[in-house]
Amino acid sequence: MATANGHGLQSLRQEVLEAGLCTYCGACSGLCPYLRPFQGRIAVLDPCPVVQGRCYSFCPRTGLDMDALTQALHGTGYDGSPLGPVRRVLMARSRDPEVLAHAQYGGVVTTLVCLALDEGLVQGAVLTRSQGGIPQGVVATRREEVLQCAGSHYLASPTLEALNRLSPRTVPVAVVGTPCQMLALAKMRLSPLAQRSNIGKVSLTIGLFCTWALSHKFLEMLSTVASPERVRKTDVPPPPARVFEVHTEAGVVALPLDAVRAYIPPACTLCADMTAEMADLSVGSAEGVPGWNTVLVRTPRGETLVERAVARGLLAVDALPQANLEHLTESAQVKKRRALQNLAQRSGRPTDFLYLRLSREVAGRLLGTP
Ligand SMILES: Cc1cc2nc3c(=O)[nH]c(=O)nc-3n(C[C@H](O)[C@H](O)[C@H](O)COP(=O)(O)OP(=O)(O)OC[C@H]3O[C@@H](n4cnc5c(N)ncnc54)[C@H](O)[C@@H]3O)c2cc1C
Repeated sequence: MATANGHGLQSLRQEVLEAGLCTYCGACSGLCPYLRPFQGRIAVLDPCPVVQGRCYSFCPRTGLDMDALTQALHGTGYDGSPLGPVRRVLMARSRDPEVLAHAQYGGVVTTLVCLALDEGLVQGAVLTRSQGGIPQGVVATRREEVLQCAGSHYLASPTLEALNRLSPRTVPVAVVGTPCQMLALAKMRLSPLAQRSNIGKVSLTIGLFCTWALSHKFLEMLSTVASPERVRKTDVPPPPARVFEVHTEAGVVALPLDAVRAYIPPACTLCADMTAEMADLSVGSAEGVPGWNTVLVRTPRGETLVERAVARGLLAVDALPQANLEHLTESAQVKKRRALQNLAQRSGRPTDFLYLRLSREVAGRLLGTP
């Protein structure tokens, strides 16, 4: 497992920020005066003299020992299975019309966060809210605030900065985020500098499926069809549609997906996790079943929460169609293989995956090589 020994801002700058590996998750910001999220990248304001930096230690793009991280959260080693450790797979949908009116798909995430707040399991939730088209982390403590965060903001968001800036009174919290953000939380948990983080205050993690996010330069393209303030929702409908939908009060504009994909940051092409394997539960779309979510329940804590939501009549659940599970599994597997290929190409060595540490056996299996 990578430790923080001898690695500070200088190493983060060389290995991650300048190398195009940064996912803009926010794990390094809000901790010190030297790093600030700015227009989709982490700006370094000044050199920092600290030699064992939390910024380096918490970053999901420095020394990611998948075996140690998986063992710590799930009690099992990392075997490279496409979806990661899963206790239960299901399809779910909120029964709350107000949640459904705000949510991206079935509103499972918003429903579970509201339930956790309502039952006092958490005092707040670190969520993502878009203002003027720019997403950022916020701490929601009331249902209205959770509803304001509903929906998917496809721009990468430095959400974890809000966890780093958490008020000492708001404990414990839930965190909702993308796979790279869940990986950063998993790293914080194992970091020798964990005591100087807010990870001990996190009692629930809800991960989002994610194939890619978009760089903030995409706002230029978006502004050719709508001003960011007027966008109500954006969506990537399942194949065969190859479009990125922009919903406004005036209607829906479909941008060609290939043109939008030009704004995927290089860091996303180096990510091997599509389904947020380091979360208590992970939520994505249910392709071809509008208004429903796919839910992967990963930990006993995640399972208890879903069961409570069903018992209270907040969630409807059903079996995920087998074809959906097969397609999701295949997509997640492809994402892993491509990430490893891209990482090996970057390093110039077939078994060197830069920040990603895997056993030779697992890497071989993922790449389809002996
Ligand atoms: C960048 C991105 C890419 C995605 N790619 C896929 C994909 O390839 N396949 C798939 O099935 N699903 C993908 N999703 C997940 C999907 O869009 C929904 O978020 C998920 O299905 C939950 O739906 P819901 O109706 O329960 O969400 P809601 O109840 O509407 O809740 C959505 C939650 O997402 C959080 N959120 C929104 N934007 C961000 C962001 N940029 N960073 C971190 N958190 C955010 C909000 O805090 C909110 O709580 C992606 C989401 C994002 C943000």
